[in-house]
Amino acid sequence: MKPTNDVFSGFGMTVFEVMSRLAMEHNTVNLGQGFPDDNGPADVRAKAAEALEDRPNQYPPMMGVPELRQALATHAKRFYDLDVDWRTETMVTSGATEALAACALGLISPGDEVVLIEPLYDCYYPMVMRAGATPRLVQVKPPHWELPRCELAAAFNDRTKMILLNDPMNPSGKVFTRDELSFIAELCVEHDCYAVCDEAYEHLLYDGREHLPLITFPGMRGRAIKIGSAGKTFSLTGWKVGYLTAAAETLKAVSKAHQFLTFTTAPNLQRAAAYGLEKEDSYFEELAGGLQERRDFVSRGLNDIGFDVVDCHGTYFINADFRRLGFNGGDEEFCRYITVEAGVTAVPVSAFYPSGAVNYLARFCFSKQWPVLEEAIDRLKTHFG
Ligand code: PMP
Ligand code: GLN
Repeated sequence: MKPTNDVFSGFGMTVFEVMSRLAMEHNTVNLGQGFPDDNGPADVRAKAAEALEDRPNQYPPMMGVPELRQALATHAKRFYDLDVDWRTETMVTSGATEALAACALGLISPGDEVVLIEPLYDCYYPMVMRAGATPRLVQVKPPHWELPRCELAAAFNDRTKMILLNDPMNPSGKVFTRDELSFIAELCVEHDCYAVCDEAYEHLLYDGREHLPLITFPGMRGRAIKIGSAGKTFSLTGWKVGYLTAAAETLKAVSKAHQFLTFTTAPNLQRAAAYGLEKEDSYFEELAGGLQERRDFVSRGLNDIGFDVVDCHGTYFINADFRRLGFNGGDEEFCRYITVEAGVTAVPVSAFYPSGAVNYLARFCFSKQWPVLEEAIDRLKTHFG
């Protein structure tokens, strides 16, 4: 047989699949793959059920149902004081993942360069490569994940088509500061490039941190694309409802790719997401507040066991340096080891560093019910004595 596409064939199975399968095989407490283990808000689910029965179930418009697009514009004004024309500046996708793919395919031409900041969410690198661009990697590193400004500036040049920014950042839990975002915005303006902003965790921030969308920074209104995920905002990751907000011309280019991908997304789920985005402030506050308590619990537990837990101000992941435990091996071996021997699964952070820069962290997902988190910490405590 002729060879298949060499970009994808060069990658193994994603770390999330690999670790979740291993978790099932060993019947562990799975804090690896990132997903909440409750069923999401009952009222949002009820809206989806109601819309499934009462409303049309045929193809919705390619750009998304008007209710959700209007809700996106209202949400942008309410949370970020951003004026958005829902008719020309919003689009619904099948998850943030399809939004990312549509940006990569709609904006990149072969020969372009794309700036990526490691540790990066796993689909970025293959998507950018498959679209024909050369990734330019810059790293933030534990424990404080500061942005290395000189290295970032050096990664931009005339061929740079875009930076793909994840804020809050998976897996690091980093929330970019206003200063860092201003610096990134200035580079985008100077080099006339797009910023694809994966803000899937925009409502999951802790310690009083505030989400600052790059699109609101000077010079960025026309060049930034803001991506969100209902899966993350409503703890319904299986729904795969995502959305984009961008200036009309930019969005048009991205929609040209979207129309040839999944084209549209389940209409009842879109309508339920519209309802969800309009929920009262307390919903969003309680979501973050509940997760912050969980983060603190897991962080304290891991530190007591002898891990060195590194900074996390957003997302639902916390990273722990295991070297002080005396384990002899890299993070992949460590995550397999605790899965098999301690009955707790985490994800090796090297999977998010294509450069191989960091291999001594395990990522734990803390968006789980209390007994599950307690059991995980108990098992690790028992194992490591
Ligand atoms: N971006 C990041 C940073 C993520 O962590 C995830 C999934 N956890 C996604 C995108 C994918 O989001 P969705 O499920 O909405 O496609
Ligand atoms: N984004 C989730 C994580 O980081 C997993 C998504 C997936 O399994 N593709 O764990």
